[in-house]
Amino acid sequence: MKKAIKVFKFGGASLKDANAIMNVANILKTFRDQRLVIVVSAMGKTTNAFEEVVNAHHKGTGEASKLLDAIKKHHYQICEALFGSEDEVYASVNDAFVEVEWVLDEPPHENYDYMYDQIVSIGELVSSKIAQAYFSKIGLPTQWLDARDIILTDDIFREGWVQWEETQERCDRLAKPMTEKPGFVLTQGFIGSTTENFTTTLGREGSDYTAAIFSYCLDAESMTIWKDVPGVLTADPRLFNHVTKIDRLSYREAIEMTYYGAKVIHPKTIKPLQNKSIPLFVKSFVEPEAEGTFISSEVEDTYPPMVAVEQHQALLQIATRDFSFVAEHHMSYLFTLIADLRMQVNMMQNTAISFVVCVNDIDNKVDQFIEKVQDQFKVILDRDLELITVRHFQQDVLDNLRRGKIILLEERLRNTVQMVARDVPVMQRKPKIK
Ligand code: ASP
Ligand code: MG
Repeated sequence: MKKAIKVFKFGGASLKDANAIMNVANILKTFRDQRLVIVVSAMGKTTNAFEEVVNAHHKGTGEASKLLDAIKKHHYQICEALFGSEDEVYASVNDAFVEVEWVLDEPPHENYDYMYDQIVSIGELVSSKIAQAYFSKIGLPTQWLDARDIILTDDIFREGWVQWEETQERCDRLAKPMTEKPGFVLTQGFIGSTTENFTTTLGREGSDYTAAIFSYCLDAESMTIWKDVPGVLTADPRLFNHVTKIDRLSYREAIEMTYYGAKVIHPKTIKPLQNKSIPLFVKSFVEPEAEGTFISSEVEDTYPPMVAVEQHQALLQIATRDFSFVAEHHMSYLFTLIADLRMQVNMMQNTAISFVVCVNDIDNKVDQFIEKVQDQFKVILDRDLELITVRHFQQDVLDNLRRGKIILLEERLRNTVQMVARDVPVMQRKPKIK
C-alpha cells in the first residue's frame, strides 16, 4: 500500500544560506522513502528586502534596481556555494528575477497591492527553484510544483482569500498525480493566483497556511513546521525569561494563541487541519530528533500560563457627534466598514455613547477608517499600543506583566485576560525608595 502523504513546511530561517539549505537536505534524507510535499518560504529576510524594492519603486527614489541587485547577489552566492559556477538552476533563477526587472522598467503601477504581489512573490519562486534543484542534485529526486497553479484566491492582493472548491479541484487534478510518482514534491508557500492568473499573496508569514491548504486538499497524514525554536513555547523567548516548551496542544488552544500574536504559527493554519483532524508537529530544524510540539484535537486542561504579545495596536474610541447613544444601526455601519477594510478586531467594549475597539494597526487601514467615519463620529485614537493575551493566567504572572505598563483596556473571560497597554514613559516611573 502507498504511504500516506506528509506535508513539511520550511520557513525563511531554515533556508537562509547555503549551510542552512544543506541542513534541510540532511533532515530530508531521513525521510527518503516517504511521500513528502515540501512547502518553502523565501530565503531568510528576502520578503522584507523585496518590500523595500516595492517601496522604492512606488516612491520613485531611484534605489529600486540597486536593492534588487543586492537580493540577486545574495541568491547567486547561495547558488555558487550549492552548485558551483555552472548549473541549469542559474537560468531558471534569472528568469524569475527578470520578471521583477520588467516591473521596475515600467512606471509604478497605480494599484500598490497588485504591484507588491508581482514583485514579492519572486522570493518564494527563487527559493523553491534553488531548493528543488539542490535536493535533486544530491540524490533526493524532487519535482517542482507552481503553487499558483493550485491555490486559487480572490483578487484582493496582499491578502488573497482561498477559493476552496477550485483549489481542491486543481489539487486533485495537478498536485495529486505528482505525489504518486517517486520522489518529493516541492512548492512555494505564501503565493496563489486569481482566476485571471495574476499572482496574489496570502498575507505575511502565510507559508504555514499554504502548507495547511495542501495538507487539507491532499488528505495528509500529518503536517510539520520546521522552526528555529524547539516547538510552541509559553511565550516569546525574546521578550520573556523562563519560557518553556509545550509538548502537546489542542487545536483550539493553538488557534487562540496564534490569533492574538503568538508568532510561532500563522493563525490561519490550524482551521483546515482541524477540519480534517490532521495533526500538526512544530519541530526544530536545529535539533530534528527532538520531540517538538504536537497539536491535535486532544484536549489538555492543565496548561501553564501562556502569553502572547501583539505589537502595532490601535485603540479607537468612537462616539456619536451629537451624544446620542451608540445604537445597533451605528454598530452595524461601523462593522461593515471594518469588514470592508479587512481590519482585525482584537477587543471591544461599549459605553452609552461610545464604542471602543482595539485593532491591528497595519498599513493605513485605521486612517482610512477614521476618514470615512469622521463626519458622523468623533474618534479618539491611541496608537503604538500592545495587546497582551494571557491564557490560563495566574495572578503573579499578570502582576509581573502589568509592571511598567499603563493599561488602557482590560478584559477577562474565564481563564483568559487581555490587556491593551503601553509602557509607562521613563520620566513618569516612580523612583525606587531603596
Ligand atoms: N516569505 C513570506 C514572509 O516572509 C511568507 C512566509 O515566510 O511565510 O512573509
Ligand atoms: Mg517566514
